[in-house]
Amino acid sequence: KGAVLATYDITELKRLEVMRKDFVANVSHELRTPITSITGFAETLLDGGIEDPDAAKEFLSIIHKESKRMQLLIEDLLTLSKLEDENFQLVLNKITLSDLLQEVIPPLKIRAEKKGLALTVQAEEDLNFKADQERIKQIFINLIDNAIHYTPDGGKIDVEVFSTSKYVHLKVSDTGIGITEKELPRIFERFYRVDRARSRNTGGTGLGLAIVKHIVEVHKGNIDIESEVGKGTTVHVYLPK
Ligand code: ADP
Repeated sequence: KGAVLATYDITELKRLEVMRKDFVANVSHELRTPITSITGFAETLLDGGIEDPDAAKEFLSIIHKESKRMQLLIEDLLTLSKLEDENFQLVLNKITLSDLLQEVIPPLKIRAEKKGLALTVQAEEDLNFKADQERIKQIFINLIDNAIHYTPDGGKIDVEVFSTSKYVHLKVSDTGIGITEKELPRIFERFYRVDRARSRNTGGTGLGLAIVKHIVEVHKGNIDIESEVGKGTTVHVYLPK
């Protein structure tokens, strides 16, 4: 029995080592792309060859955009590493979901509407429970952000919050592009994107769902996702009351 256990341990260690290497390779790649573009455009500007002020401004705006992308990525990496720290502690407080949504929703709604998407929110009144306020906000932001990214103009996004006997149930649904059954199990992996090129253009870091999953886990909750290609996606989060 001991021998079997040891074999299993080594396989598991190897698996973790492969995951760690993949992660480092992914982070390096994700950082290299923007930094290459930033140095390139900055060098061109420094060379002084660009006389047209509009062209110079265009270069600066690319540098700005790519710096922002790096900033987002580093923030997401720090968030993940905090959540994975063995000493990580949730800041638990009584939170009222309707109040929290009033803070989180307005900027997202503006973004959704700019893209021609209707965003509706239904929250059970006075629904409160103990949780980490900032982390719960992050769940909504990441899920709604995705719904906005992956739903074409004219679509709908619905956010619902209600309680069952044991859980607070958060639901974010969209009428977007959907995810195939084959891809579905992988989308919580760090840096996994169904369509890499498209997702990079829309500005995601590929870490959003990994972060959401971690937050749900540290709250001892569950996450579930249903999706149909061309119809839309619904993410369910269940948090213990
Ligand atoms: P990203 O920053 O790329 O959005 P996420 O971790 O948030 O990273 O999501 C991982 C991948 O899952 C996305 O690249 C996308 O392919 C897919 N995805 C996530 N949410 C949705 C959604 N609401 N509709 C369709 N695809 C989605």
